[in-house]
Amino acid sequence: MNDSLRKFKYDSEIAFNEEHWQKMNYNTGCYEKRFANSRNNYRNVELERERAFLLRNKSLLNMEKLLVDFETRFKDNGGQVLWACDADDALQMIWDIIGKRSNNSVSRSNSVVLDEIGIDDYLKQKGVQVYDSSIGRYILKVAGKEPYHPVYPALNLSKEEIGQVLNKQFKLKADSTTKQLVNFVRHQVNQDLPKTQICITGANYLLADMGGVVLSENEGNIVKSCASANIHIVVAGIDKVISSVEDLSILIPLTSAHATGSGMTSVNSITMGPSGDDGRMYVILLNNGRTDILENEVIRQSLSCTHCGACVSVCPIYKNIGGYAYGTPYIGPIGTVMTPLMYDLEEYAHLASLCSLCGRCTEVCPVKIPIEDLMIENRRIVAEERVGDTRYDSLVKTLIGHCKSRKKMDCPQWLKKVEVKQLVNKNNFTKRMMPELAPKSFNQMSKTEN
Ligand code: SF4
Repeated sequence: MNDSLRKFKYDSEIAFNEEHWQKMNYNTGCYEKRFANSRNNYRNVELERERAFLLRNKSLLNMEKLLVDFETRFKDNGGQVLWACDADDALQMIWDIIGKRSNNSVSRSNSVVLDEIGIDDYLKQKGVQVYDSSIGRYILKVAGKEPYHPVYPALNLSKEEIGQVLNKQFKLKADSTTKQLVNFVRHQVNQDLPKTQICITGANYLLADMGGVVLSENEGNIVKSCASANIHIVVAGIDKVISSVEDLSILIPLTSAHATGSGMTSVNSITMGPSGDDGRMYVILLNNGRTDILENEVIRQSLSCTHCGACVSVCPIYKNIGGYAYGTPYIGPIGTVMTPLMYDLEEYAHLASLCSLCGRCTEVCPVKIPIEDLMIENRRIVAEERVGDTRYDSLVKTLIGHCKSRKKMDCPQWLKKVEVKQLVNKNNFTKRMMPELAPKSFNQMSKTEN
């Protein structure tokens, strides 16, 4: 068993924790209500999703040209563009920019690509203080936890738990109201942001026609941190490039509705380059396995993802096993699809069989990614490459052997129970309910009736 599978088995045990289940159900239930209302704002939401699907696919198919266009225009605007093959490359580039500066601190936004390159650990090792511009991430850092959801990083914490965390650290009243908690954290974040001259963010989109970086948020802290810093470093996957600013009129409202159930994200900005005379702005274009995904005609569609988190919020598997079992920052259905190809097929092959194929993710995806089809393609690749945990295969083979043997099918109920129990124990499904076996096989029953 490899390390990722071992971690998966350990972290997914939370599925048997009643309290976790209730918290996840409550928090995702609140999201689903807002989401249903926001979809009602559209006269024809399906048409809008279809348009978004076409726009994102057009961008993917023209990615090479669009990236070059973006680079040319962004440089014309006074910015610099760097191309990173992988996470190490991107981290080295960041260090080359910030390493020699005396003010050894940075602010960072809530961005999955920054988690992908492991920026927090890297900068911590280098002795750099990292301030979070996101309220959720600030709370998580105080609690000593990792993000649980791409859009709601602290989804696994209840209001009471957040109150206890802030009470322990800052002596805030443990019974503070939600408003008091939010105001307190907002104040803390706002105090931290001006302490640094360097901000590092992801990007929602890169505009090829203008050479602009699009940032969408609800708290306004990214804009604040960019405004107070004189160095802005953007780390963006190469999949973030889109053709035109006009595409945003469809993509931003639709993604907002699916991400948080709001009509529109509160703060949307397009940054065209460095501000002021001494300002500098860099965009690091990150590959890190994305061209490998592009090569597969089916899985390629996953690169259309806007990371709105809608598929994560509605996924019954995620609600049960939580955000840590996936093992990478790419959580939920889309993470299940991307991780094996983006990271390591052998290490993450077990994710391919995680899905129940209920199809809810595909139903809610604003850019109409057929996530179930992508899951099935992943399974095909895993089976073809013969990677992953083979114990499950041998379990299925044994069961097929049983089903094909008339003698075994007709054996007494107590013997069948013993055999099934042995199989269940051997494969470590000890927390599953034992299936109730019929006293007689179908064949025996039909003979008795005749
Ligand atoms: S796959 Fe679709 S629903 Fe899931 S995060 Fe990406 S855009 Fe959102």
